[in-house]
Amino acid sequence: MRVALDFDGTITEHPEFFRVLSVALRASGSEVIVLTYRHPALRPVMVEQLAAWGIEYNRFQFARNQEDKAFWCETLSVDVFFEDTDACLMPVTSRTLVMKVRNAKNFDFTNRQWMATASSVKSDT
Ligand SMILES: [Mg+2]
Repeated sequence: MRVALDFDGTITEHPEFFRVLSVALRASGSEVIVLTYRHPALRPVMVEQLAAWGIEYNRFQFARNQEDKAFWCETLSVDVFFEDTDACLMPVTSRTLVMKVRNAKNFDFTNRQWMATASSVKSDT
């Protein structure tokens, strides 16, 4: 199984969970990809942070924009994609299971409602 993990708002929100998940996945022969929209020049900072959290991975993949993550999910045959941003998830094809991570930028914890843009929600009213 090939699993892609977004960095900002996903791994950074739950580093302990993603440590356990990444270690277990790699121990079982699965591949872990850190799929990020960060600039590649920030890779050394990310490598250091991931090491500090104990997160294991096989490769980095830098996306050129939010929608580009879907291209990489398809190109790399990603089976599961953990991500927090709708704009990154919406273009992903149905072959990839998407796991949306809640955080303060995409979920109103006071009112317990998802925050969305008009383009990310289809209204039935
Ligand atoms: Mg993110």
